[in-house]
Amino acid sequence: MDRRKFVKISAIGSAAIVLDPSKEDKVKLNNHSFTKGNSTVISTWKPGLEANKFAWKILSKNGKSIDAVEAGVRVIESDANNKSVGIGGLPDKNGIVTLDACIMDHNYNCGSVAFLQDIEHPISVARKVMEDTPHVMLCGKGALDFAIEKGFSKTNLLTPEAENDWKKWKELQTEKLPEINHENHDTIGMLAIDEDGDLSGACTTSGWAYKLHGRVGDSPIIGAGLYVDNEIGAACATGLGEAIIKISGSHLVVELMRQGLKPNEACYEAVQRIKKTNKNLKDLQVGFLALNKKGEHAGHSMYAGFNYALKNSKTDKLIDTKYEMEW
Ligand code: ASP
Repeated sequence: MDRRKFVKISAIGSAAIVLDPSKEDKVKLNNHSFTKGNSTVISTWKPGLEANKFAWKILSKNGKSIDAVEAGVRVIESDANNKSVGIGGLPDKNGIVTLDACIMDHNYNCGSVAFLQDIEHPISVARKVMEDTPHVMLCGKGALDFAIEKGFSKTNLLTPEAENDWKKWKELQTEKLPEINHENHDTIGMLAIDEDGDLSGACTTSGWAYKLHGRVGDSPIIGAGLYVDNEIGAACATGLGEAIIKISGSHLVVELMRQGLKPNEACYEAVQRIKKTNKNLKDLQVGFLALNKKGEHAGHSMYAGFNYALKNSKTDKLIDTKYEMEW
C-alpha cells in the first residue's frame, strides 16, 4: 500500500472511530451500565433527606428523573427554616433575598434563573426557561417578569428570622464584607437516575449570605453548580461559588468520569483543582457530588462536615463525604 492510500484509509478509519464507536458506546452505556431497579437520588446536605422522599415518590413509580429532581428541591425551597434556599434564605448585603437555580435533563436541555427575587420556586421557573424558551438563562427583573407571565405569584422571601440575622450581622461590623463559612451557606443540589437509566439534576440556593447585591454564584451556571451528561453521569456542587465557577466544577467532575474515574475519584480531583487554583483556602468550603450511569455515587469536600442524602429501593440515609481538612 502506498503512503497516500494508507493516509487516506487511516483518515477514513479515524473518522469511523470518531463516529461509529461513539454511537456504539452510547448504546453500551445506555443499555449495559444501568440495571433496572437501581434508580437512585442523591442530594446535598441533611435537608436532602426530606427532599429525596419527594423525588422518590416519582422515581419509585417509574417517573422521570427531571420531574423527580424538580419536585425534590421544591420542598427545600418552601422550607422557611432553611436559611440558604428559597423562602427563609439569608439576604444579600442590602437585606434582599435573591435566588439562583438551574435544572438539566438527560438530553442536554437546561434552564436557569439568576438573581431572581420574590418567587418561591426558582427551580420551576428555571424549568420553564428550559421548556418554553429558546434560552438557557434569565436573570433579575427579566426572570421575574417571565415568571409572572408564566403564572408564578410574588411571595415575600425574607422571613423575620432571616431579617433579624441580617440586622445582627450589619450591627456587628463597620465595613461589611460578605460572609461565608460553614454556617451561612448551603445549597440543595440533587441528582437522580430513573428506571429508564436517564439522569437529571437540579440546583437551587439563596447563595452566599450577605453577598454584594447583584452577585450570582455557581448554582445557576450550567457546568459550575450542575452538569448532566446522560452518557456518563451527573455532578453538582455546593460551597464557595466563586471557586467552583473558576474551574467549571460540575462539568469537570463529569468529564473526569468520562475519562474513567469513579464518582469518588472525580469529586476528589475537582477538590484538588480548587486547592491548586486558590491561594487562600481558609474557610473555602466546597463540596461535589457525582452520580454515574451505573447509579454509583460519591462526594468529596474541602472541609469536614459535608454530607449527602441517598435514597433508592435499598436505602435511605445520610453519608459523610471524605474531605481534605478539618475546620
Ligand atoms: N454555592 C452557593 C453559592 O456560592 C452557596 C453554597 O452552596 O453554599 O452561591
